[in-house]
Amino acid sequence: MTDHAPLSPVPVDDLAAAFQIEGWPVRGRLVRLGDAIDAVLSAHDYPEPVAALLGETCALAALVGSSLKFEGRLIVQAQGDGPVRYVVADYDSQGHIRGYCRFDAEEVAAASTGFSRPGAQTLLGKGVFVMTLDQGPDFERHQGITPIEGESLSLAAEHYFRQSEQVPTKVRLAVGAVDQGAGPRWRAGGAMIQMVAGDAARGSTEEVWERSEALFQTLADDELLDPQITPETLLFRLFHEDGVRLEQARPLAAVCRCSADRITSVLTSFGEDERREMIEDDGKIRVTCEYCSTVYEIEPAAAGVGSL
Ligand SMILES: [Zn+2]
Repeated sequence: MTDHAPLSPVPVDDLAAAFQIEGWPVRGRLVRLGDAIDAVLSAHDYPEPVAALLGETCALAALVGSSLKFEGRLIVQAQGDGPVRYVVADYDSQGHIRGYCRFDAEEVAAASTGFSRPGAQTLLGKGVFVMTLDQGPDFERHQGITPIEGESLSLAAEHYFRQSEQVPTKVRLAVGAVDQGAGPRWRAGGAMIQMVAGDAARGSTEEVWERSEALFQTLADDELLDPQITPETLLFRLFHEDGVRLEQARPLAAVCRCSADRITSVLTSFGEDERREMIEDDGKIRVTCEYCSTVYEIEPAAAGVGSL
């Protein structure tokens, strides 16, 4: 097979883009994450399976979030009774991603025995998969909740779209450490296709959908991860017979929303006794952002705790 996708000035990494297959009732999206996902995952010292799960969750949040025309945040969460209690990733309309996990290290190690990487259901156990659209305080939050179904996060997402939006959807997510010469760095990728509702030509719509599903199935994890394969090349490999266009590419970056002001205002919502107990031996309160691991040093007075 020859790859001769046209060159274009779109970013080739850390991007989310839409794609359209000429004349098909299918819309698609693609996400490639390099430095951005390495920054998110390197901010934590997670065991490999937990980091991979967070990477997939971030890729999914960017995949879904970048498809929405809105100002605000798309939050993907999963919560269960397994070794990983909670995973969250959020994407905002500026293309910023962040996320974290809560887990029990011993349980994760036990669940990983004999697996190269345990799947989402093994890690999360029984629980729920939640997508939230947060457009700020002036809007009602739109939230969809489905049980975690299937061994992978992609299957859970497909189940979500089937249940809560009734849109046939295929999702592919990949996370891995790739060494480009400077040691292994995290990369992630995601792709999604959805059937666009047909009207008069319903029958043929489904036939084309099945065909695109079959082609989509051939997408390999390493194609999603390999920085040498540009987004255009990847799409061309998948759908070249039918002409595929990449559109609306936008950059993604690892940016957290935390700040000393936000942390301080969260602190002031705690009881005064609780705040006083947080004061360390050197007289400061230290709070670590769960998303990006930045440690904030707060003067107790700033958090409304007077000296004794
Ligand atoms: Zn932060």
